[in-house]
Amino acid sequence: MAQTPDGALAGVPPAAEAGGILRIDLTAIVENWRDLGRRVAPAECAAVVKADGYGCGIEPVVAALAQCGCKTFFVADLSEARRVRPLTSDADIYVLNGVLPGTSLTFAQLDVRPVIGSVVELIEWNEFCAAQEWPGSAALHVDTGMHRLGLNPGEAVTLADSARSTAHICLIMSHFACADEPAHPLNARQMADFHDVRLLFPGISASLANSSGIFLGPDAHHDLVRPGAALFGINPTPQHMNPMRPVARLQGRVLQLRRVATGDTVGYGATWTARRPTRIATVGIGYADGILRTSGGTDTRPGAEAIVAGSHCPLAGRVSMDLLAIDVTDLPADVPRRGDLVTFLDEDIGVDDFASHAGTIGYEVLARLGRRFWRVYDRP
Ligand SMILES: *Cc1c(COP(=O)(O)O)cnc(C)c1O
Repeated sequence: MAQTPDGALAGVPPAAEAGGILRIDLTAIVENWRDLGRRVAPAECAAVVKADGYGCGIEPVVAALAQCGCKTFFVADLSEARRVRPLTSDADIYVLNGVLPGTSLTFAQLDVRPVIGSVVELIEWNEFCAAQEWPGSAALHVDTGMHRLGLNPGEAVTLADSARSTAHICLIMSHFACADEPAHPLNARQMADFHDVRLLFPGISASLANSSGIFLGPDAHHDLVRPGAALFGINPTPQHMNPMRPVARLQGRVLQLRRVATGDTVGYGATWTARRPTRIATVGIGYADGILRTSGGTDTRPGAEAIVAGSHCPLAGRVSMDLLAIDVTDLPADVPRRGDLVTFLDEDIGVDDFASHAGTIGYEVLARLGRRFWRVYDRP
């Protein structure tokens, strides 16, 4: 049932004034989390909620997941950890980007855990914990092939011998680079290397799999899995049907309808030309709302589609900051009408479909979802 969007940000206008309406199905997020949990049992299923809960709103997402039993959350940085902590007093909260210089005290004050990704970070953390007598649980990230964050395996071997240097470590983790391509040889190599790494730290929990990693099979599951994308309806198995439920429904409002003559162009750069007498619906959302500029349609490249009165209609011309145009010539003359809503994301047009027209991935579409929408949360 639709409720007042109490997760919405200040300044969002009432629904009737909004150029766009974003509906987030919290029930679907919870169902997706439960589904992944069943696939990995007895391993634990955490939730990665970085980037404002993949654009869906970190507060309502965490509140819903915590209420149905999720005990472990991963965020990107301390500003996100600060938003998550008040929503759940007993969950473990890990900060993926680790400790920045001088920030250890904040971790202690919020009672959240850094994911330590280098030897200097570990030294700084251990010194802080010793000086403050803070028990200081942390995750240790060992790089097995992503080459972004994490100690290299050689450093992990050196550390593992010193009980003092690893006293605060409660989770050993690594991260897949290519889990969405199951046949990629790097997957097997990372799984083998991580298997060796965890043997160095007996008795400490281990975590390797993101969303797609879960579908690589039980050897990837270890003690804790870290899905983000799949919770939010992104397909973790791009070669197969999407096993997850869709979460985001995005609609934009028709501001006006106009007729365009054959040979006239639409939008900045005049990149789209009417090949017939054309009817254009101008809609009040644009790239400032996360509708990627590259999803527009030109004379040489078809763009994304929107569903208008039940039919798929193509975008015409470049997406502007606050506006975009849709070719609705094939619809009956009396639809759509000014004020109607047209649909960009729903069960029919998934985030991955929409992303593919813009030359990107569902992750980027969700992470960029704008702040001007009227947001509605459907709750369990
Ligand atoms: C973002 C992230 C995840 C979640 O990845 P998804 O592909 O969205 O499931 C897991 N672990 C780490 C280290 C990450 O950065």
